[in-house]
Amino acid sequence: MTTHSLSPIPFLDLKGQHAALKEELLALFAQALDKAEFIGGGQVAGFEAEFAAFTGAAQAVGVANGTDALRLALLGLGIGPGDRVVTVPNTFIATVEAISHCGAHPEFVDVEPDTCLMDPNRLETFLKARFTGGPAAERPRAVIPVHLYGQCADMTAIRELAARYEVLVLEDAAQAHGATHAGHPAGSMSPTAFSFYPGKNLGACGDAGAVTTQDPALAERLRVLRDHGQTAKHQHQVIGCNSRLDALQAAALRVKLPHLPLWNTRRRAVADRYDAAFANLGWLRPVTIRANNLPARHLYVVHAREREALQEHLSRQGVNTALHYPVPVHLQPCYAHLGHAPGSFPHAEASARELVSLPLFPEMDDDQVARVIAAVLSHDMDRLLP
Ligand SMILES: *Cc1c(COP(=O)(O)O)cnc(C)c1O
Repeated sequence: MTTHSLSPIPFLDLKGQHAALKEELLALFAQALDKAEFIGGGQVAGFEAEFAAFTGAAQAVGVANGTDALRLALLGLGIGPGDRVVTVPNTFIATVEAISHCGAHPEFVDVEPDTCLMDPNRLETFLKARFTGGPAAERPRAVIPVHLYGQCADMTAIRELAARYEVLVLEDAAQAHGATHAGHPAGSMSPTAFSFYPGKNLGACGDAGAVTTQDPALAERLRVLRDHGQTAKHQHQVIGCNSRLDALQAAALRVKLPHLPLWNTRRRAVADRYDAAFANLGWLRPVTIRANNLPARHLYVVHAREREALQEHLSRQGVNTALHYPVPVHLQPCYAHLGHAPGSFPHAEASARELVSLPLFPEMDDDQVARVIAAVLSHDMDRLLP
C-alpha cells in the first residue's frame, strides 16, 4: 500500500496549535481593542517577567522581532562600526545581518560536522591567532554562537574562551526556547536573542522577539534603544529606533508560554522516535545531540546522501520536507564582498549540501510520526532493489 492516498503530512502545522487556543486568544484581542492598549502596557511587562522567569534570566526585554533582538543586543553591548563579531556560516541570515547593521564586520568559524554547531576548537584557533599576532584592529569584540535546530552550542567551552580572550558573548537562541546546556537554560548564560516568529517553538501571531540578560544595566539600555532612545518623555539620549513588542503579540505569547514545556516534551518524543528508527542507516544520519544538552528540537534535521532523491521520494509519499539552510551565509550574494571562496568552511558547506528537515511539530500524532518513518525507510528499500 502506498501512503499517498492519506492526507499529506505538512512540514509544520500552526493551525492545530491555534485551534486549541483560539477562544483564549480572541478574548485577549477583544480586550486590547476595548482598552485600545496596543503598545506597551501590562501585557508587555507581564510577558517580559514571565519569559525572564522561564529562561532563568534576571530580565527580558521585548522587541519587534528576533533580528532586532540580535541587532539591539549588539548595540546595547557597545558593538559598532569597525568592530568584528564572530559567528557561524550555517545560520539563518539574520544572525549576520544584525552584525552588519551595527556597522560591524562579520567573521566566521566553521561548525562541528555532527552537531552543526559552532566548533569551540576552531573558535579557539581563531581567537588565539587574532590575539597573539596581527593588528589589534582585527581582534574580535564579540562572538555569537547559534543554537541551531534547538540545541545549545557548547557554551561551557565558548564562555571559557570568551572569558580568556575578553570577548563578549551574545547567544542566538531564536530556535532554542526551553533548551538547556549542562542544566542551564538558553537565555540564562549570556545575553541572548530570541525570536517569536510564528513558526518558532514559542511563536507570536505575527513578528516578535526578546533579549534576555542577567545584567540590569544592559536591559535598561535595550529599553531605551527600542523606544527611540528615550530616557524620559522628549529626552532622546541615544539614537534609538522603533522596535517595541506590541501588546497583542505579548498577550498571545502569554497564552502560549505555559504550554511551551509540554510542546517541547512532545517535540523531543517525536525526535527520539525518529532517532531510534534512523540510527543504523548508512545513507542517512540525524544531527547529533550532545549528552549534556536538552534540546528544544525546533527542527529535525538529517544528513542524507542524495538529498534531492529523498525529498522527491518523501513528497511522493505525502511527506513534506524543508531545507535549513541550503546556502551558507558566506556564499550568499550579499556577502560576496567578504571574499570567502567556496571551501572556506567545509563543514558548514557540507551541511548546506546534505541536510534535510523532516516534519516536526508538537501536534503531530503517532500515526503521522509512523508514516514519516515508514516513508524514509521505504526509500532505503528502493535503494536496495536492483
Ligand atoms: C528566526 C531566526 C532569527 C530571526 O528572527 P526573526 O524574528 O525572524 O527576525 C535569527 N536567528 C535564527 C537562528 C533564526 O532561526
